[in-house]
Amino acid sequence: MRILLVEDDTMIADAVTVALRDAAYAVDWVQDGMSASRTLTLGEHQLVLLDLGLPGRDGLEVLRRLRQSGNTVPVIILTARDRLEDRITGLDLGADDYLVKPFQVPELLARLRAVTRRQSGQAAPLLGNGRITLDPSTHEAHANDTTVLLSAREFSLLQALLLRPGAILTRRELEEQIYGWNEEVESNAVDFLIHGIRKKLGADSIKNIRGAGWMVEKS
Ligand code: CA
Repeated sequence: MRILLVEDDTMIADAVTVALRDAAYAVDWVQDGMSASRTLTLGEHQLVLLDLGLPGRDGLEVLRRLRQSGNTVPVIILTARDRLEDRITGLDLGADDYLVKPFQVPELLARLRAVTRRQSGQAAPLLGNGRITLDPSTHEAHANDTTVLLSAREFSLLQALLLRPGAILTRRELEEQIYGWNEEVESNAVDFLIHGIRKKLGADSIKNIRGAGWMVEKS
């Protein structure tokens, strides 16, 4: 899953980026509101972490324009502004959640998981298709009576598929969700990860649709 971090404070951005990468998210970072708006028109990200006090275009304005354009990408506001009216305005403009700085990384990660599962129409904390179960808080996967630990990128790929059971994701779509802007993608990276997941969870855990892409079955 790929996240856009919009934050002008370099220290916070670095800390959040490291924490998110450790938790197997692909992260791209922009430092001002105009770059955020431009980037979001590309539709490359599955979630946005949005600071409010930004140079150029305010975070609330970025959010207002984003929703006005019909973009439904989940947005979590990260802000030092603890004024009640900012929080209310942000939520009413279409933010999905907010965190007041300073925040603890485990809380940020828990809110990310919560917003992600809501977006995919699931309320239960575990992702699954009836055959495979994935725990986003531990990166453990369960299938065929065994529980295995996935690598960060294996988790990321399987999560992308399990968020949309029955849908075929192309190589490009999978790569986009696993890798950020500055990360080099080996041409066979997706095959390599799928091979690893099948080894752990069974050959039929991920289906290849010839010439189209990959999917997990809908239960
Ligand atoms: Ca700021």
